[in-house]
Amino acid sequence: MQNYEFETVILGGGPAGFSAGLYASRGAVSAAIVDVSMLGGQPSNYLELENYPGFCKIGGFELMEKFEEHADMFGVQKFPMQEIVSVDLLSNPKVITTKEAEFKAKTVILATGAKPMKLGVSGEEEFIGRGVSYCAVCDAAFYKDKVVAVVGGGNSAVEEAVYLTKFASKVYLIHRRNELRADKIIQQRAFKTEKLQIIWDTVVTEIKGDNLVNSLSLKNVKTGDVTDLSVDGIFPYIGITPNVESFNGQVSQDKSGFILVDETMKTSIDGVYAVGDVRKTPLRQVITAASDGAVAAVYAVKYLETLKEITV
Ligand code: NAP
Repeated sequence: MQNYEFETVILGGGPAGFSAGLYASRGAVSAAIVDVSMLGGQPSNYLELENYPGFCKIGGFELMEKFEEHADMFGVQKFPMQEIVSVDLLSNPKVITTKEAEFKAKTVILATGAKPMKLGVSGEEEFIGRGVSYCAVCDAAFYKDKVVAVVGGGNSAVEEAVYLTKFASKVYLIHRRNELRADKIIQQRAFKTEKLQIIWDTVVTEIKGDNLVNSLSLKNVKTGDVTDLSVDGIFPYIGITPNVESFNGQVSQDKSGFILVDETMKTSIDGVYAVGDVRKTPLRQVITAASDGAVAAVYAVKYLETLKEITV
């Protein structure tokens, strides 16, 4: 077991975590990023981003490589693929224990992001990897010339449905209302995409198949009509839930689990900050995550200075 001490440990290596690391290191604070998986976070799976200022169009993976390179330049330490055993945010110093190491830190920045929400219908768990996928960029190529459905009406669902038309012969977008939530520009693209058909006012009630998915049971929420739709795959994109399992309940959270912070990104615990998708925020974008990371790191540095003053 390795033992490490840092002035700040950042849990999560997505845009918020890299930005926090960069700003902390530039504030002359020793900083480490600890992540349960590969670094890069959710944007690594995005095909393209067209709304990160300074880049008219850039691949999500490529942008996150640039974030990492930038954090490296200022000496942020990186610990990917760490299996978390426990996180104690209430002790001083705070302690993060993984299968391989123990990290002690005076401040912690929670940047663990969020993960896809499940439909919670029969067949969903059973067919994961056999027709149920939460990542179109990862799995679209398996559906060349096949029929797929995407569920949801937000930016993710609509963007991914359009993307899937490049591979599939037909893409159904199944939405529970008669109006999309996605940004207008993204909606317009969908309406112009020939192979994309929107099924309005409808929910999926069951995912069916033998070895692989072959159909969905659908219910029209207005008429109550139940129908079967033949598909080879289904991509639920119905929103996200925060990754808080390893420290759930230690900081104040809203009823969905998203962490509550003040304008400096401070949580209910002194020296603990939360940034990006894991916090309660009105906008979840790479740019807002990066901004959160900068704010949190600057205030973590200020907090560390106050600790030094108390010790002197
Ligand atoms: P979202 O905006 O929360 O949309 C979720 C969609 O799923 C909504 O249309 C919702 O319907 C529907 N839904 C929720 N629960 C459902 C259920 N049980 N059954 C059927 N439908 C259900 O989630 P998101 O699209 O994953 O986006 C998450 C965040 O990332 C957003 O802030 C989004 O703007 C951002 N994002 C941005 C971009 C971009 O700017 N390029 C790309 C991707 C994501 P209702 O509309 O009826 O509530």
